[in-house]
Amino acid sequence: MNNLWQCHNCIDEHGKPGRDFEADKPVCPECKLDSTLPEYAQFGLIVKRETIHLDPPHKILKGKGSGKRACDGKPAQGAMFTGVAAIVNCPACLRTDAFRGLAETQGLEVTVVEKHDYVLDPTTMPTDS
Ligand SMILES: [Zn+2]
Ligand SMILES: [Zn+2]
Repeated sequence: MNNLWQCHNCIDEHGKPGRDFEADKPVCPECKLDSTLPEYAQFGLIVKRETIHLDPPHKILKGKGSGKRACDGKPAQGAMFTGVAAIVNCPACLRTDAFRGLAETQGLEVTVVEKHDYVLDPTTMPTDS
């Protein structure tokens, strides 16, 4: 399974330090920095990132999370999760309506908007009979 890394020897698409990449080992595909080598590891330029899920706000309790991951509704136990939209990096959570709603209220510009723009309509599907 690939890990999530962030290379601080590179800049991201917004010009900010820290380029995200997925890889087995902390070797940046962009600048080729190999953080497994002691000569580079000492600088700590490639940091490991955990998958951070969205814990949507509780429907009734103010200022509390629901305790469930937005992507699959499973208890947030054991996984990293947050109520701060800007920190969420789980790709599935980023696609949820809960994330978009939260991002809006927190004034975050949502760049990851992906939603299926089609539905399978059973009434128009061919049948055998
Ligand atoms: Zn890099
Ligand atoms: Zn998630």
